[in-house]
Amino acid sequence: MHSFHYHNGSLHCEDVDLTTISDQHGTPAYVYSAATLRDHYRRLDMALADIDHAIEYAVKANSNLSVLKLLADEGSGFDIVSGGELRRVIEAGGDPGKCTFAGVGKTREEIEYALAEEIYCFNAESEEEVVFISKVAGEMGKTAPVAFRVNPNVDAKTHKYISTGKSENKFGVDFEVIEDAYARASKLPNISLRGLQMHIGSQLTSLQPFIEAVEKVSPLATMLKETYGIEFFSIGGGVGIVYDPALESGKDQWWTEQDEEQKPLTIEQYAQGVVPVLKKTGLKILLEPGRYIAGNAGVLITSCLYEKRGSAKTFRIVDAGMNDLIRPALYEGHHEIVPLRAPTEGNTTSVDVVGPVCETGDFFCQDRELPDFQPGEAIALLSSGAYGFVMASNYNSRPLPVEILVDGSDARVIRPRQTMDDILESERAALR
Ligand SMILES: *Cc1c(COP(=O)(O)O)cnc(C)c1O
Repeated sequence: MHSFHYHNGSLHCEDVDLTTISDQHGTPAYVYSAATLRDHYRRLDMALADIDHAIEYAVKANSNLSVLKLLADEGSGFDIVSGGELRRVIEAGGDPGKCTFAGVGKTREEIEYALAEEIYCFNAESEEEVVFISKVAGEMGKTAPVAFRVNPNVDAKTHKYISTGKSENKFGVDFEVIEDAYARASKLPNISLRGLQMHIGSQLTSLQPFIEAVEKVSPLATMLKETYGIEFFSIGGGVGIVYDPALESGKDQWWTEQDEEQKPLTIEQYAQGVVPVLKKTGLKILLEPGRYIAGNAGVLITSCLYEKRGSAKTFRIVDAGMNDLIRPALYEGHHEIVPLRAPTEGNTTSVDVVGPVCETGDFFCQDRELPDFQPGEAIALLSSGAYGFVMASNYNSRPLPVEILVDGSDARVIRPRQTMDDILESERAALR
Protein backbone atom coordinates (compact mmCIF):
# COMPACT_ATOMS: atom_id res chain seq x y z
CA MET A 1 0.00 0.00 0.00
CA HIS A 2 1.03 3.57 -0.42
CA SER A 3 -0.72 6.80 0.35
CA PHE A 4 0.32 9.01 -2.53
CA HIS A 5 -2.51 9.83 -4.93
CA TYR A 6 -4.08 12.65 -6.91
CA HIS A 7 -6.93 14.52 -5.34
CA ASN A 8 -8.51 17.68 -6.77
CA GLY A 9 -5.85 17.76 -9.47
CA SER A 10 -2.91 17.70 -7.10
CA LEU A 11 -0.68 14.95 -5.68
CA HIS A 12 -1.39 14.26 -2.01
CA CYS A 13 0.29 12.29 0.72
CA GLU A 14 -2.61 11.01 2.81
CA ASP A 15 -4.75 14.15 3.32
CA VAL A 16 -1.97 16.65 2.72
CA ASP A 17 -1.48 18.44 -0.61
CA LEU A 18 2.19 18.15 -1.55
CA THR A 19 2.05 21.51 -3.32
CA THR A 20 1.30 23.09 0.05
CA ILE A 21 4.37 21.37 1.44
CA SER A 22 6.61 22.53 -1.40
CA ASP A 23 5.26 26.09 -1.05
CA GLN A 24 5.78 26.15 2.72
CA HIS A 25 9.04 24.24 3.09
CA GLY A 26 10.69 24.58 -0.30
CA THR A 27 12.37 21.85 -2.31
CA PRO A 28 14.04 19.38 -2.35
CA ALA A 29 12.00 17.82 0.46
CA TYR A 30 11.49 14.25 1.61
CA VAL A 31 7.90 13.47 2.61
CA TYR A 32 6.95 10.24 4.41
CA SER A 33 3.53 8.73 5.07
CA ALA A 34 2.95 7.45 8.60
CA ALA A 35 -0.06 5.39 7.48
CA THR A 36 2.04 3.57 4.89
CA LEU A 37 4.81 2.79 7.38
CA ARG A 38 2.28 1.39 9.84
CA ASP A 39 0.43 -0.54 7.16
CA HIS A 40 3.58 -2.25 5.94
CA TYR A 41 4.67 -3.17 9.44
CA ARG A 42 1.23 -4.56 10.33
CA ARG A 43 0.84 -6.50 7.09
CA LEU A 44 4.14 -8.26 7.62
CA ASP A 45 3.34 -8.94 11.26
CA MET A 46 -0.05 -10.44 10.28
CA ALA A 47 1.44 -12.54 7.49
CA LEU A 48 3.71 -14.18 10.06
CA ALA A 49 0.99 -14.67 12.67
CA ASP A 50 1.31 -18.46 12.35
CA ILE A 51 4.82 -18.60 13.77
CA ASP A 52 6.69 -17.22 16.75
CA HIS A 53 8.39 -14.21 15.17
CA ALA A 54 9.88 -10.76 15.66
CA ILE A 55 10.36 -7.93 13.19
CA GLU A 56 13.72 -6.17 13.35
CA TYR A 57 13.31 -3.09 11.16
CA ALA A 58 16.60 -2.42 9.33
CA VAL A 59 17.41 1.06 10.64
CA LYS A 60 19.82 1.86 7.81
CA ALA A 61 16.92 2.11 5.31
CA ASN A 62 15.50 5.22 7.00
CA SER A 63 16.83 6.19 10.41
CA ASN A 64 14.98 9.42 11.18
CA LEU A 65 14.10 9.42 14.89
CA SER A 66 10.41 10.01 14.21
CA VAL A 67 10.28 7.04 11.81
CA LEU A 68 12.01 4.86 14.42
CA LYS A 69 9.63 6.06 17.12
CA LEU A 70 6.59 5.26 14.97
CA LEU A 71 7.89 1.71 14.45
CA ALA A 72 8.91 1.30 18.11
CA ASP A 73 5.34 2.26 19.03
CA GLU A 74 4.14 -0.56 16.74
CA GLY A 75 6.29 -2.95 18.75
CA SER A 76 9.13 -3.30 16.27
CA GLY A 77 12.64 -4.40 17.13
CA PHE A 78 15.58 -3.01 15.19
CA ASP A 79 18.45 -4.36 13.13
CA ILE A 80 21.37 -1.99 13.52
CA VAL A 81 24.70 -1.84 11.71
CA SER A 82 26.57 0.66 13.88
CA GLY A 83 26.79 2.13 17.36
CA GLY A 84 25.29 5.29 15.90
CA GLU A 85 22.16 3.43 14.85
CA LEU A 86 21.83 1.94 18.35
CA ARG A 87 22.05 5.45 19.75
CA ARG A 88 19.26 6.51 17.39
CA VAL A 89 17.02 3.60 18.45
CA ILE A 90 17.51 4.48 22.11
CA GLU A 91 16.87 8.20 21.51
CA ALA A 92 13.66 7.28 19.67
CA GLY A 93 12.45 5.22 22.62
CA GLY A 94 13.17 1.82 21.07
CA ASP A 95 14.19 -1.14 23.21
CA PRO A 96 17.89 -2.15 22.95
CA GLY A 97 16.77 -5.56 24.19
CA LYS A 98 15.01 -5.96 20.85
CA CYS A 99 18.05 -4.98 18.76
CA THR A 100 20.24 -7.19 16.61
CA PHE A 101 23.63 -5.83 15.57
CA ALA A 102 24.84 -6.73 12.06
CA GLY A 103 27.88 -5.69 10.03
CA VAL A 104 31.33 -6.99 9.15
CA GLY A 105 33.39 -4.34 10.95
CA LYS A 106 32.17 -3.73 14.49
CA THR A 107 34.67 -1.69 16.51
CA ARG A 108 35.60 -2.10 20.18
CA GLU A 109 33.66 1.06 21.10
CA GLU A 110 30.55 -0.23 19.32
CA ILE A 111 30.79 -3.66 20.95
CA GLU A 112 31.24 -2.11 24.41
CA TYR A 113 28.28 0.20 23.85
CA ALA A 114 26.03 -2.63 22.64
CA LEU A 115 27.06 -4.83 25.59
CA ALA A 116 26.40 -2.02 28.05
CA GLU A 117 22.94 -1.47 26.53
CA GLU A 118 22.27 -5.23 26.62
CA ILE A 119 21.15 -5.72 23.02
CA TYR A 120 19.35 -8.91 22.05
CA CYS A 121 22.12 -10.33 19.86
CA PHE A 122 25.30 -9.64 17.91
CA ASN A 123 25.02 -11.08 14.42
CA ALA A 124 28.68 -11.84 13.83
CA GLU A 125 30.17 -12.09 10.37
CA SER A 126 33.45 -13.91 11.12
CA GLU A 127 35.08 -16.10 13.77
CA GLU A 128 37.67 -13.39 14.36
CA GLU A 129 34.86 -11.03 15.33
CA VAL A 130 33.37 -13.54 17.80
CA VAL A 131 36.76 -14.07 19.45
CA PHE A 132 37.07 -10.30 19.85
CA ILE A 133 33.51 -9.92 21.19
CA SER A 134 34.28 -12.64 23.77
CA LYS A 135 37.41 -10.76 24.84
CA VAL A 136 35.61 -7.42 25.20
CA ALA A 137 32.69 -9.05 27.04
CA GLY A 138 35.17 -10.76 29.39
CA GLU A 139 36.79 -7.43 30.24
CA MET A 140 33.36 -6.05 31.09
CA GLY A 141 32.39 -9.12 33.13
CA LYS A 142 29.59 -9.91 30.69
CA THR A 143 28.44 -12.72 28.41
CA ALA A 144 27.70 -11.65 24.84
CA PRO A 145 24.71 -13.15 23.00
CA VAL A 146 25.92 -14.09 19.52
CA ALA A 147 24.60 -15.50 16.25
CA PHE A 148 26.67 -16.17 13.18
CA ARG A 149 25.57 -14.83 9.85
CA VAL A 150 25.78 -17.72 7.42
CA ASN A 151 26.49 -17.07 3.78
CA PRO A 152 24.33 -19.68 2.04
CA ASN A 153 25.84 -19.10 -1.41
CA VAL A 154 22.57 -18.60 -3.25
CA ASP A 155 22.02 -16.18 -6.08
CA ALA A 156 19.59 -13.45 -5.01
CA LYS A 157 19.19 -12.34 -8.65
CA THR A 158 19.38 -8.69 -7.78
CA HIS A 159 21.80 -5.88 -8.70
CA LYS A 160 25.37 -7.03 -7.98
CA TYR A 161 25.98 -4.15 -5.55
CA ILE A 162 23.10 -5.27 -3.31
CA SER A 163 23.61 -9.03 -3.56
CA THR A 164 25.10 -10.33 -0.30
CA GLY A 165 24.53 -14.10 -0.13
CA LYS A 166 27.14 -15.39 -2.59
CA SER A 167 30.53 -16.81 -1.55
CA GLU A 168 32.30 -13.95 -3.30
CA ASN A 169 30.48 -11.32 -1.18
CA LYS A 170 32.19 -10.07 1.98
CA PHE A 171 29.24 -11.01 4.20
CA GLY A 172 28.84 -13.91 6.59
CA VAL A 173 30.61 -17.20 7.21
CA ASP A 174 30.69 -19.79 4.42
CA PHE A 175 27.98 -22.42 4.68
CA GLU A 176 30.60 -25.20 4.39
CA VAL A 177 32.49 -24.18 7.54
CA ILE A 178 29.73 -22.73 9.71
CA GLU A 179 29.32 -25.82 11.90
CA ASP A 180 32.99 -25.69 12.88
CA ALA A 181 32.63 -21.99 13.63
CA TYR A 182 29.79 -22.73 16.07
CA ALA A 183 31.78 -25.57 17.66
CA ARG A 184 34.76 -23.31 18.32
CA ALA A 185 32.61 -20.36 19.45
CA SER A 186 30.78 -22.60 21.94
CA LYS A 187 34.09 -23.03 23.77
CA LEU A 188 34.72 -19.30 24.15
CA PRO A 189 34.28 -18.12 27.74
CA ASN A 190 32.11 -15.03 27.31
CA ILE A 191 29.82 -16.02 24.44
CA SER A 192 26.35 -17.50 24.53
CA LEU A 193 25.11 -18.81 21.19
CA ARG A 194 21.65 -17.41 20.71
CA GLY A 195 20.79 -17.77 17.04
CA LEU A 196 21.60 -18.10 13.37
CA GLN A 197 21.22 -15.35 10.80
CA MET A 198 21.35 -14.84 7.04
CA HIS A 199 20.55 -12.04 4.59
CA ILE A 200 21.00 -12.83 0.91
CA GLY A 201 20.51 -9.42 -0.64
CA SER A 202 18.22 -6.49 -1.17
CA GLN A 203 15.39 -5.65 -3.57
CA LEU A 204 14.54 -9.28 -4.35
CA THR A 205 11.40 -9.51 -6.43
CA SER A 206 10.98 -13.26 -6.72
CA LEU A 207 10.27 -15.87 -4.10
CA GLN A 208 12.59 -18.55 -5.43
CA PRO A 209 15.92 -17.29 -3.96
CA PHE A 210 14.30 -16.91 -0.51
CA ILE A 211 12.89 -20.45 -0.67
CA GLU A 212 16.20 -21.83 -1.87
CA ALA A 213 18.07 -20.13 1.01
CA VAL A 214 15.54 -21.05 3.69
CA GLU A 215 15.41 -24.69 2.55
CA LYS A 216 19.19 -24.90 2.47
CA VAL A 217 19.76 -23.31 5.89
CA SER A 218 16.77 -24.56 7.96
CA PRO A 219 18.27 -28.02 8.68
CA LEU A 220 21.38 -26.28 9.97
CA ALA A 221 19.22 -24.08 12.24
CA THR A 222 17.48 -27.16 13.63
CA MET A 223 20.82 -28.87 14.25
CA LEU A 224 22.18 -25.79 16.05
CA LYS A 225 19.07 -25.68 18.21
CA GLU A 226 19.58 -29.28 19.24
CA THR A 227 23.33 -28.92 19.81
CA TYR A 228 23.69 -25.45 21.33
CA GLY A 229 20.14 -24.50 22.30
CA ILE A 230 19.92 -21.48 19.99
CA GLU A 231 16.54 -19.73 20.14
CA PHE A 232 16.17 -17.83 16.87
CA PHE A 233 16.72 -18.05 13.14
CA SER A 234 16.82 -14.69 11.34
CA ILE A 235 16.14 -14.84 7.63
CA GLY A 236 17.20 -11.23 7.06
CA GLY A 237 15.46 -8.63 4.95
CA GLY A 238 15.53 -8.10 1.22
CA VAL A 239 11.88 -8.21 0.18
CA GLY A 240 11.74 -5.96 -2.85
CA ILE A 241 9.19 -3.27 -3.59
CA VAL A 242 7.63 -2.10 -6.79
CA TYR A 243 9.31 1.07 -7.76
CA ASP A 244 6.19 1.54 -9.83
CA PRO A 245 3.44 1.77 -7.21
CA ALA A 246 0.62 1.76 -9.75
CA LEU A 247 1.47 -1.89 -10.35
CA GLU A 248 1.06 -2.69 -6.70
CA SER A 249 -2.25 -0.94 -6.31
CA GLY A 250 -3.47 -2.74 -9.43
CA LYS A 251 -5.02 0.51 -10.55
CA ASP A 252 -4.78 1.51 -14.15
CA GLN A 253 -3.03 4.80 -13.61
CA TRP A 254 -1.72 6.95 -16.38
CA TRP A 255 1.96 6.69 -15.54
CA THR A 256 2.38 2.99 -15.95
CA GLU A 257 2.04 0.24 -18.44
CA GLN A 258 0.71 -2.86 -16.74
CA ASP A 259 3.29 -5.59 -17.01
CA GLU A 260 2.53 -8.97 -15.49
CA GLU A 261 6.23 -9.92 -15.55
CA GLN A 262 7.01 -7.07 -13.21
CA LYS A 263 4.33 -7.94 -10.66
CA PRO A 264 6.23 -7.98 -7.44
CA LEU A 265 6.35 -10.44 -4.72
CA THR A 266 3.64 -9.53 -2.22
CA ILE A 267 4.39 -9.86 1.46
CA GLU A 268 1.64 -12.46 1.77
CA GLN A 269 3.18 -14.61 -0.99
CA TYR A 270 6.56 -14.27 0.67
CA ALA A 271 5.17 -15.39 4.03
CA GLN A 272 3.21 -18.27 2.50
CA GLY A 273 6.39 -19.43 0.79
CA VAL A 274 8.78 -19.37 3.72
CA VAL A 275 6.56 -20.00 6.76
CA PRO A 276 5.93 -23.75 6.20
CA VAL A 277 9.68 -24.43 5.98
CA LEU A 278 10.47 -22.19 8.96
CA LYS A 279 7.71 -23.61 11.14
CA LYS A 280 9.44 -27.00 11.16
CA THR A 281 12.52 -25.55 12.86
CA GLY A 282 10.53 -24.73 15.99
CA LEU A 283 12.70 -21.63 16.36
CA LYS A 284 11.68 -18.03 16.82
CA ILE A 285 11.89 -16.42 13.37
CA LEU A 286 13.35 -12.94 12.95
CA LEU A 287 12.91 -10.75 9.89
CA GLU A 288 14.90 -7.62 9.08
CA PRO A 289 12.89 -5.66 6.53
CA GLY A 290 14.10 -2.21 5.54
CA ARG A 291 13.03 -1.30 2.04
CA TYR A 292 9.72 -3.16 2.32
CA ILE A 293 8.69 -1.01 5.30
CA ALA A 294 9.97 2.40 4.22
CA GLY A 295 10.55 2.40 0.44
CA ASN A 296 7.09 3.20 -0.87
CA ALA A 297 6.32 5.27 2.23
CA GLY A 298 8.33 8.27 1.00
CA VAL A 299 8.78 10.63 -1.91
CA LEU A 300 11.35 13.26 -2.74
CA ILE A 301 9.78 16.41 -4.11
CA THR A 302 11.90 18.66 -6.26
CA SER A 303 11.30 21.70 -8.47
CA CYS A 304 12.12 22.02 -12.12
CA LEU A 305 14.60 24.86 -12.69
CA TYR A 306 15.21 24.77 -16.43
CA GLU A 307 14.38 22.91 -19.55
CA LYS A 308 17.43 22.56 -21.75
CA ARG A 309 17.01 21.33 -25.29
CA GLY A 310 20.21 19.74 -26.52
CA SER A 311 20.79 18.42 -30.02
CA ALA A 312 20.41 14.82 -28.81
CA LYS A 313 18.14 15.15 -25.82
CA THR A 314 15.84 17.30 -23.77
CA PHE A 315 16.96 17.81 -20.18
CA ARG A 316 14.72 18.89 -17.33
CA ILE A 317 17.03 20.23 -14.67
CA VAL A 318 15.69 19.97 -11.12
CA ASP A 319 16.86 21.26 -7.74
CA ALA A 320 17.50 17.79 -6.24
CA GLY A 321 20.68 15.98 -7.14
CA MET A 322 22.47 12.70 -6.62
CA ASN A 323 23.66 14.04 -3.25
CA ASP A 324 20.00 14.02 -2.14
CA LEU A 325 19.04 10.66 -3.70
CA ILE A 326 21.89 8.51 -4.93
CA ARG A 327 20.08 5.28 -5.84
CA PRO A 328 20.00 5.85 -9.62
CA ALA A 329 23.72 6.71 -9.70
CA LEU A 330 24.81 4.03 -7.23
CA TYR A 331 22.93 0.97 -8.44
CA GLU A 332 20.77 2.02 -11.33
CA GLY A 333 17.78 2.46 -9.01
CA HIS A 334 14.50 3.33 -10.68
CA HIS A 335 12.10 5.99 -9.42
CA GLU A 336 8.75 6.83 -10.92
CA ILE A 337 8.51 10.55 -11.61
CA VAL A 338 5.17 12.32 -11.40
CA PRO A 339 4.25 16.00 -11.43
CA LEU A 340 2.50 17.41 -8.37
CA ARG A 341 -0.11 18.94 -10.67
CA ALA A 342 -2.17 16.10 -12.15
CA PRO A 343 -1.12 15.75 -15.79
CA THR A 344 -3.43 15.61 -18.73
CA GLU A 345 -3.66 12.29 -20.49
CA GLY A 346 -1.38 11.56 -23.42
CA ASN A 347 0.66 14.74 -23.27
CA THR A 348 4.19 13.35 -22.80
CA THR A 349 7.77 14.05 -23.93
CA SER A 350 10.92 11.94 -23.78
CA VAL A 351 13.29 13.64 -21.34
CA ASP A 352 16.25 13.17 -19.01
CA VAL A 353 15.57 14.49 -15.52
CA VAL A 354 18.92 15.62 -14.12
CA GLY A 355 20.22 17.36 -11.02
CA PRO A 356 22.60 20.30 -10.60
CA VAL A 357 25.57 18.22 -9.34
CA CYS A 358 28.71 18.23 -11.47
CA GLU A 359 28.66 14.53 -12.36
CA THR A 360 27.32 12.82 -15.48
CA GLY A 361 25.83 10.19 -13.16
CA ASP A 362 23.60 12.86 -11.63
CA PHE A 363 20.32 11.86 -13.28
CA PHE A 364 16.97 10.52 -12.08
CA CYS A 365 15.86 9.11 -15.43
CA GLN A 366 17.05 8.99 -19.01
CA ASP A 367 14.99 9.02 -22.20
CA ARG A 368 11.77 8.55 -20.27
CA GLU A 369 8.32 9.55 -21.53
CA LEU A 370 7.08 11.99 -18.93
CA PRO A 371 4.06 14.27 -18.81
CA ASP A 372 4.72 17.90 -19.39
CA PHE A 373 5.94 19.90 -16.43
CA GLN A 374 7.47 23.30 -16.75
CA PRO A 375 10.26 25.18 -14.97
CA GLY A 376 8.79 26.45 -11.71
CA GLU A 377 6.69 23.35 -11.21
CA ALA A 378 7.44 20.58 -8.72
CA ILE A 379 7.60 16.85 -9.31
CA ALA A 380 7.81 13.85 -6.99
CA LEU A 381 10.33 11.02 -7.19
CA LEU A 382 8.29 8.13 -5.82
CA SER A 383 9.49 5.26 -3.64
CA SER A 384 12.25 7.33 -2.05
CA GLY A 385 11.52 6.44 1.57
CA ALA A 386 14.29 3.84 1.88
CA TYR A 387 17.97 4.43 1.09
CA GLY A 388 17.10 8.02 0.21
CA PHE A 389 17.82 10.63 2.86
CA VAL A 390 20.09 8.25 4.79
CA MET A 391 22.53 8.20 1.87
CA ALA A 392 22.36 11.95 1.22
CA SER A 393 25.59 13.92 1.44
CA ASN A 394 26.85 17.48 1.29
CA TYR A 395 28.63 16.90 -2.04
CA ASN A 396 28.91 20.19 -3.95
CA SER A 397 28.28 21.90 -0.56
CA ARG A 398 24.59 21.29 -0.91
CA PRO A 399 22.67 21.33 2.40
CA LEU A 400 20.64 18.21 3.27
CA PRO A 401 16.93 18.41 2.42
CA VAL A 402 14.10 18.84 4.93
CA GLU A 403 12.23 15.69 6.05
CA ILE A 404 8.49 15.80 6.72
CA LEU A 405 6.21 13.15 8.21
CA VAL A 406 2.56 13.22 7.19
CA ASP A 407 -0.01 11.54 9.41
CA GLY A 408 -3.57 12.04 8.18
CA SER A 409 -3.98 15.77 7.71
CA ASP A 410 -0.98 16.58 9.88
CA ALA A 411 2.43 17.39 8.32
CA ARG A 412 5.33 17.71 10.71
CA VAL A 413 8.94 18.69 10.01
CA ILE A 414 10.95 15.81 11.47
CA ARG A 415 14.29 17.24 10.39
CA PRO A 416 14.68 20.85 9.26
CA ARG A 417 16.50 21.68 6.08
CA GLN A 418 20.21 21.98 6.81
CA THR A 419 21.73 25.45 6.45
CA MET A 420 25.13 26.48 5.09
CA ASP A 421 26.00 27.59 8.63
CA ASP A 422 25.37 24.04 9.87
CA ILE A 423 27.80 22.79 7.25
CA LEU A 424 30.50 25.39 7.85
CA GLU A 425 30.39 25.49 11.62
CA SER A 426 32.83 22.69 12.35
CA GLU A 427 35.36 23.93 9.77
CA ARG A 428 35.45 27.57 10.83
CA ALA A 429 37.36 26.94 14.05
CA ALA A 430 40.48 25.99 12.07
CA LEU A 431 40.58 29.43 10.38
CA ARG A 432 40.76 31.30 13.66
C1 LIG B 1 20.46 -3.95 4.69
C2 LIG B 1 20.12 -5.11 5.55
C3 LIG B 1 18.78 -5.48 5.76
C4 LIG B 1 17.63 -4.77 5.09
O1 LIG B 1 17.58 -5.00 3.72
P1 LIG B 1 16.31 -4.53 2.89
O2 LIG B 1 16.62 -4.95 1.50
O3 LIG B 1 16.18 -3.07 3.03
O4 LIG B 1 15.13 -5.26 3.44
C5 LIG B 1 18.53 -6.54 6.61
N1 LIG B 1 19.53 -7.20 7.22
C6 LIG B 1 20.83 -6.88 7.04
C7 LIG B 1 21.87 -7.64 7.75
C8 LIG B 1 21.17 -5.82 6.21
O5 LIG B 1 22.45 -5.51 6.02
